Amino acid sequence: MMKRPFCHWGRRVAAWGCAFFLLFAAAAPGLALAEKGTEASEAAEAAWTAQASLGAKAAGGKRPGGADWSEMQRRYRGAFVLSAPRRTRKVALTFDDVPDPRYTPLVLATLKREKIHATFFVVGSRALKHPELVKRIQKEGHAIGNHSFNHPDFSKLPLDEVKRQIERSEAAIKGTVGFAPRLVRPPYGEITPSQLDWARANGYTVVNWDVDSSDWRQLSAQRVFMNVTRSVRPGSIILLHAGGGTGQNLFGTVDAIPKIVRWLRSHGYEPVTLPELLGIPEQKNG
Ligand SMILES: [Zn+2]
Repeated sequence: MMKRPFCHWGRRVAAWGCAFFLLFAAAAPGLALAEKGTEASEAAEAAWTAQASLGAKAAGGKRPGGADWSEMQRRYRGAFVLSAPRRTRKVALTFDDVPDPRYTPLVLATLKREKIHATFFVVGSRALKHPELVKRIQKEGHAIGNHSFNHPDFSKLPLDEVKRQIERSEAAIKGTVGFAPRLVRPPYGEITPSQLDWARANGYTVVNWDVDSSDWRQLSAQRVFMNVTRSVRPGSIILLHAGGGTGQNLFGTVDAIPKIVRWLRSHGYEPVTLPELLGIPEQKNG
């Protein structure tokens, strides 16, 4: 559909030129995001922009909820969670990468309209920039979890650095809402067994998901809706985003929420927060 405007500078420029251009155009969204993030010299934002490529790699490998994760859930029973036991009709909507002034308020307003409570995984560096949004998440009755300080891939970091990521984010969240969250979601869902050992010993529950909306790929509301409703099961934990990298478009997510909630209710599911789904406290040592 873009062939005409981009590829008609003379036949001699030839198919190769066009092919290269179209290839580049296909890769451009990710590249453009990465470039902007770097220009802005914000390590956190730049880290985010890597999400698309990491996620794509993951999707072709063991994600989501692949054998490795299931095995880890068995080994770390109650400390590494992908879903609740299947005997409930409850499910949990979870929103990562908050707070983000572009999307978090829209998601909050939609959840309020639909009268449901969800769980938000907060990035510490973003909480420091927009504390009022974190307070609003809490005030509106949602649960809060820790999503690291600036969104690195834990599996590429030594344990000390991972501890620092979790503790710095925890301090930022505590400074805003007054408590340390028990729930931790590692960026990209990546975490190693030794990091899990530490998390378990220190009172955290690491929560990934069994339903991936893939909304970070900037999908339409209909695609996000289909990705969720075709895989949801009793006890499911559903991954969505209410924040993103520079230029990332999450309006599909915002528009999909009412449709997802209505579908869930009409199929006998009850959307609740993660602490309610899992029967655990929201606060560490709580
Ligand atoms: Zn994230």
